[in-house]
Amino acid sequence: MLNRTYDNQVCSIARALEIVGERWTILIVRDAFLGVRRFDDFQRSLGIARNVLADRLDRLVEAGIFERRPYQDRPPRYEYRLTEPGLDLHPVIFSLMKWGDKHLAPDGPPRLALHRGCGGEIDEHLTCSKCGERVAARQIEARPGPGLKATLA
Ligand SMILES: [Zn+2]
Repeated sequence: MLNRTYDNQVCSIARALEIVGERWTILIVRDAFLGVRRFDDFQRSLGIARNVLADRLDRLVEAGIFERRPYQDRPPRYEYRLTEPGLDLHPVIFSLMKWGDKHLAPDGPPRLALHRGCGGEIDEHLTCSKCGERVAARQIEARPGPGLKATLA
């Protein structure tokens, strides 16, 4: 589906990268986990060209990561909701974030992941540091972290 194809590779990593191995694609999915659903909101959040965004969203719908749901009739407007396979990408995105926090964030994490209603920080194994529960995507609340504040200061 992207320019690079790994047709000759019988490998689940290569197959997954066919769908989410492109920078914008994974950032669109990240935004969806942060609660973004509508085209204009993705566009504003990512600063991506509209044609590129439309193309990536189409591909993600085609690949079964998002489904389009109408939220307005006139004019027709759709929002993008993660499907079950899409929601299953959460540990992947979360692991990337934790890896970046550990190795690429000298001022601290730009974003904190907290257990909703509990307030504990969530570690790289998706376990809450306060109550010890394993936390699902929908139970995570993102807050600005020290790395983001350092950038804005
Ligand atoms: Zn907790």
